[in-house]
Amino acid sequence: MNLNHYLHLKAQRKIDEKAPRERCFTCKLPFTICYCRLVKPFTAPALFVILIHRNESRRSVATGRMAHLCIKNSRLFEGTNFTHHEGVNEILANPKFHPVVLYPGQGSVDVTEGINSPALIDPTKQLVVFLIDGTWSHARRIWRLSRNLHRLGQVRFTPTTPSRFKVRRQPRSYCYSTIEAIHFMIDRLPAANLESRPHQNLIEVFDFLVARQVRYAQDFGPTRGFRAVRGLRSGC
Ligand SMILES: [Zn+2]
Repeated sequence: MNLNHYLHLKAQRKIDEKAPRERCFTCKLPFTICYCRLVKPFTAPALFVILIHRNESRRSVATGRMAHLCIKNSRLFEGTNFTHHEGVNEILANPKFHPVVLYPGQGSVDVTEGINSPALIDPTKQLVVFLIDGTWSHARRIWRLSRNLHRLGQVRFTPTTPSRFKVRRQPRSYCYSTIEAIHFMIDRLPAANLESRPHQNLIEVFDFLVARQVRYAQDFGPTRGFRAVRGLRSGC
């Protein structure tokens, strides 16, 4: 990039920062990086319930929200303490559901090779997977405060490929964002449609946004407030 081009981009960035950018009502991003047209909503073979920390929800790349827009039968709840959260407790009380939480810990079941253990798959019930979307400190806080989650079975996995999140360095390259974690888990569900793979849309949408952010960072430097959203798994 020559100096004139750099100065032009710098000036443009100042204008962009000052101008109130119109945002998409659905994904809450500026229209220049709105990914809604790429979303092909599908029904997942499990009910994914994403518990998003308030701060995470405000970030430009909230992959929990992105996953929620892609998965028709997912739920997204915002908060910090879900102990008395009506939506969460309704799911926990429903006898048709078998809820587990993706959170590493003593006694958590490793689902890296597949979600097929009788402790997880009950043919008479719908599997529900709770995920906590936030930084590790947010996640620990949500976990500590949300006592209703403590009685659930815990699952964990070890990512088999590096994260596709290329803009910011993850604490370890194998730490997944929430949307990658959901994609990984669907791939391991016995009822997943592995022929047409509708859940691949999660990665398509995620890749689009990461590519946009990479290009922006190359032109202007790292975006303020843009950071990796980590999913939860052992070792991250
Ligand atoms: Zn949008």
